[in-house]
Amino acid sequence: MELTDKLEILADAAKYDASCASSGAPKRNSIGKDGFGASSGMGICHSYTPDGRCVSLLKVLLTNYCLYDCQYCVNRRTSNVPRARFTVAEVVKLTADFYLRNYIDGLFLSSGIIQSADYTMEQLVQVARELREVHQFRGYIHLKTIPDADPALIAAAGRYADRLSVNIELPTQDSVQKLAPEKSVHTIKLAMGSIRRKLDEKAEEPKSPRFAPAGQSTQMIVGADASDDQQILDTAETLYGSYKLKRVYYSAFSPIPQSPKSVPLAPPPMLREHRLYQADFLLRSYGFQASELLPATGGNLALDIDPKLAWALANREHFPLDLNLAPPHMIARVPGIGLRNAQRIVELRRLRQVRYADLSRLRCSMKKISPFIITADYFPARDTTPSEQLRRSMADAPQQMNLWPELQAA
Ligand code: SF4
Repeated sequence: MELTDKLEILADAAKYDASCASSGAPKRNSIGKDGFGASSGMGICHSYTPDGRCVSLLKVLLTNYCLYDCQYCVNRRTSNVPRARFTVAEVVKLTADFYLRNYIDGLFLSSGIIQSADYTMEQLVQVARELREVHQFRGYIHLKTIPDADPALIAAAGRYADRLSVNIELPTQDSVQKLAPEKSVHTIKLAMGSIRRKLDEKAEEPKSPRFAPAGQSTQMIVGADASDDQQILDTAETLYGSYKLKRVYYSAFSPIPQSPKSVPLAPPPMLREHRLYQADFLLRSYGFQASELLPATGGNLALDIDPKLAWALANREHFPLDLNLAPPHMIARVPGIGLRNAQRIVELRRLRQVRYADLSRLRCSMKKISPFIITADYFPARDTTPSEQLRRSMADAPQQMNLWPELQAA
């Protein structure tokens, strides 16, 4: 099989992994048309480094042959898809060639499981080792870690990779048992734990060998099982706390050809994935707890409003908040005020009283914040508008469904 044919199969097979999510731009290409270029180059996706830079990555699988039969996965052993396998040398060559032509800044490499977890992990490590030691490759490398692999191999992966990730797959042990019977949450967490220990050792002993400087991440599939957003966010919160993950990625389940009956026929609404990312950001950066964002009775995040606005509407007793007196963390909880603007407001009030026009100058969403704030010249009585009415006035405008998506993609 030609290298380009393998690339087509193995880049397509890797697209379901969201942990280095690409942009949402529509697909365009110039084949048979005027112009040049394509927005969906084979295997090239965009990701963000911890310092906020956008980097292009070659995102491929080493192979899509797999011994496992995870029901939600297009590469499961019972799936009838074209199969291919790169050699280590082929992935190294593709990465080096693409890098030298300035197509990519790095590599995202995952794999189906072949022969054994250790054998597969060895192959992944060998790609990274050859790139670093033979080709002196200085670009970004993200390696997917096989949870059952020997911890020594995971430690070796961390010497060469910038980031390691182990997919938790689904939020509960029951769901993993049902949909990915060869996997176990216990083993996945052991692998995450061994990465965390190596990261801690490195932090305590800076002169020890390099280990995954961009930390570890994971991915959870949304909508393949019956778990609700509360279970998903609870699991994410536990993972952040226990394993110091840099990120949890949420991937909306995408129905696959000839999918088994154990998984749904339709994908969840894309907005659900988006709301989970918003809620996740509130957990990581705003000090929210999962239990504040969803009631103890469980359920999903609202789709029509963002999770911070939903929290504010459910907790009206905290508002209106005096921006000249409130603690900084509460200012950041006002809908329409982000972290950066909360910081600017705190800096401004050291010099003088914050006024209503200051917020407009900071480009805060005035429609959103007005019911929730007090400034030196704006002190509404406690807003008694029912939360439901406020919610309707602030909800995202409904969007027209796209009846002919294939025309848009053409
Ligand atoms: S281990 Fe499971 S999720 Fe990973 S490639 Fe194989 S079938 Fe897919």
